[in-house]
Amino acid sequence: MALVSGKQILDEAQKGKYGVGAYNVNNMEQIQAIMAAAKETKSPVIIQASRGALKYSNFTYLGYLMKAAVIENPEIPVSMHLDHGNSLDSAIKAIELGFSSVMIDGSLMEDGKTASTYDYNVKVTKSVVEYAHKRGVSVEAEIGTLGGIEDGVGSGTIHVTDPKEAKKFVNETGVDSLAIAIGTSHGAYKFKGAANLAFDVLKEIRGLISIPIVLHGASSVPKNLIDDVNKYGGKMPGATGVPMESLQEAIKLGVQKINVDTDGRLVMTAAIRKVFAESPEKFDPRDYLGPARIALTDLIKSKMLAFGTAGHSGDYAPKSLEEMKRSY
Ligand SMILES: [Zn+2]
Repeated sequence: MALVSGKQILDEAQKGKYGVGAYNVNNMEQIQAIMAAAKETKSPVIIQASRGALKYSNFTYLGYLMKAAVIENPEIPVSMHLDHGNSLDSAIKAIELGFSSVMIDGSLMEDGKTASTYDYNVKVTKSVVEYAHKRGVSVEAEIGTLGGIEDGVGSGTIHVTDPKEAKKFVNETGVDSLAIAIGTSHGAYKFKGAANLAFDVLKEIRGLISIPIVLHGASSVPKNLIDDVNKYGGKMPGATGVPMESLQEAIKLGVQKINVDTDGRLVMTAAIRKVFAESPEKFDPRDYLGPARIALTDLIKSKMLAFGTAGHSGDYAPKSLEEMKRSY
């Protein structure tokens, strides 16, 4: 078993100067596709479930599918991560389910929509850090808010992270990694014009904090995928994402975790639409979920290569959560 904390995966990425994708999962095919890509490219991997995903799958189902990914791939360091936890309670639930890493997003109130205050963020984050670290589980927090709304999460307004506030926040909370806002956003419609990330802000933050940095809303929304979706009956005009070159630049400047959800959704939708359009007689879910799984594997493999994750799965000995617990 190589279930490891998010902290170990990201600390190692920081040492090795590469990025690690955190890929969102809702079902079996997605988990299998991501793990096949990790195995083929020898990449450590973070599989993450949002509260929406856990609710959709009734918690236990998804938790056990994610555990199956760990059991089936003993040679790959895998972190099971809660994406956008909204309260201490949501973190406790995930940790009880066996997650090795949790995010508490105190940049928003518990409704996941209303921007919160700095003091609220510190308070709720500290409560999660205290609970999680006692169990060897690492914590990601967020400061600043992203644009876009996904799975009902997001205020819809970008507030670029204030570097000095980020430093103060890290010192006050003791978090293991920090999600920052530098212009990325959730969903498939990230920019009106050209993509524009605040690299100067990222540089400043990197100079002030030493823990791993996380980019949310970092799907690239490749044009060929949107073209495929639209070609086979979809309607997604004007969808745009963060170009891979920008993500590579961000990794160079010191980002370790890159969250990818939208691209996985798009590639599966394109593959499924293609089957439906070309073979309208088919009705076995395996006939369209199978090709969707293969398409997702290829997409994730390309990300693992581009982020520099490939080849690093055997670099270090996995530490148990018990060992991590003693390190805090
Ligand atoms: Zn996010």
